[in-house]
Amino acid sequence: MQTIRGFRDILPEQIRIWQKIETEATGLFKAFGFEEIRIPVIEKTELFARSIGETTDIVEKEMYTFADRKGDKLTLRPEATASIVRSYIQHKMYAVDPVRKFYCIGPMFRRERPQKGRYRQFYQIDVEVFGVASAYIDSQLIFLLNELFRRLGLTGLSAHINSLGCPECRPGFQTTLLTLLESKKDQLCGNCLRRMNKNPLRILDCKSPECKAAISDAPATIDHLCRECSDHFKIVQSTLEKQGVDFKVDNTLVRGLDYYTRTAWEILTTSLGAQSAVAGGGRYDGLVQELGGPETPGIGFAIGFDRLAEVMEQLEKAPDPDTVDLFIIALGEAAMEKSYLWYSELNQAGIRTEMDFRGKSMKALMKRADKLNAAQVLIVGENELERNAVVLRDMGTKTQVSLAVDTLVENLTRKMTQSNETG
Ligand code: AMP
Repeated sequence: MQTIRGFRDILPEQIRIWQKIETEATGLFKAFGFEEIRIPVIEKTELFARSIGETTDIVEKEMYTFADRKGDKLTLRPEATASIVRSYIQHKMYAVDPVRKFYCIGPMFRRERPQKGRYRQFYQIDVEVFGVASAYIDSQLIFLLNELFRRLGLTGLSAHINSLGCPECRPGFQTTLLTLLESKKDQLCGNCLRRMNKNPLRILDCKSPECKAAISDAPATIDHLCRECSDHFKIVQSTLEKQGVDFKVDNTLVRGLDYYTRTAWEILTTSLGAQSAVAGGGRYDGLVQELGGPETPGIGFAIGFDRLAEVMEQLEKAPDPDTVDLFIIALGEAAMEKSYLWYSELNQAGIRTEMDFRGKSMKALMKRADKLNAAQVLIVGENELERNAVVLRDMGTKTQVSLAVDTLVENLTRKMTQSNETG
């Protein structure tokens, strides 16, 4: 049996990087006042169709949608924002506090064509803020991403930002854009032609070279912003400048989901080939209301966890495997019986201890201790046991001491804790 196409196992050797990222991210999010939220992996299809948008790639082609036994139309979540907004409204979270800040980590599902950095089950680290219309929050979220990547030691990343306007100014922009698109109709791909009237903005980020060429002189959203959107975007930029965040205004960035308003951004890397976006986000001021909640501004981002882990792997930022503090060599049945209890107690005390139950020879067990890179080896032989003693060998200095059995666990715990603290 094999995993299905686009789905994969994340093995223990890879997980060390994942855990490092997760520890760094959650520590940072907590310091910035975010609370964790967990949401189901399956929701009603309608939630995603209505929020992400009927004419987006995700909803048109990529969702894992099925009818359950009662015929309800359900979908494996392709992203987290829609579900978090649903949860925010369902639990009337706005009534508890006008400002809520969440993070969420978990798998998402999109039936895309798999390739490096693109999977059908992939993981996202998601951050959302509800109830703050101020541009400072836009800057803060971009700053937060920047800070996380800095702490993880990543270089070669660039933040691309754009403003998509709001329901006040976007229609005017769309009309201007449509006039251009009408005149280039014969050069656009089938997808763009189909979407042209429903969602002309999406054509700005079509990847087809013909479309790119056809719209090379397309107008920029930022030249058509209303006063409020323009002021908002200016504050975002000047704040990022003051905070020393490198960014570039990118007029072609529109993001693949319909709900974005005003600021949208992506963090790109040069080290993943075609799949260059490691994170993306934006403001979605109309979404809570659109899904039946009160008028509430919202903004958030998602980091592609798989891609971030791959960038870290390329930069060799993998932490070393945990080392074994102590390997117990038990020679004979009586030694095994006693050693097993010490082994459990030492693990319980937080000392990373290993032992081998196969009844192998001393030589074979020393080899295994070496392979596991054990710092110390405890040799429990029948003769020594009769004299209530065991031998502790330091694998670094190759020195040995004899330890009394009665106080063994306390003694070892003290020694190991001290050496872990100093080492
Ligand atoms: P999006 O929700 O499309 O804005 O995606 C946010 C981030 O998730 C992207 O910048 C990618 O890093 C990551 N991502 C999106 N789709 C996939 C996928 N199929 N496989 C791996 N990562 C993905």
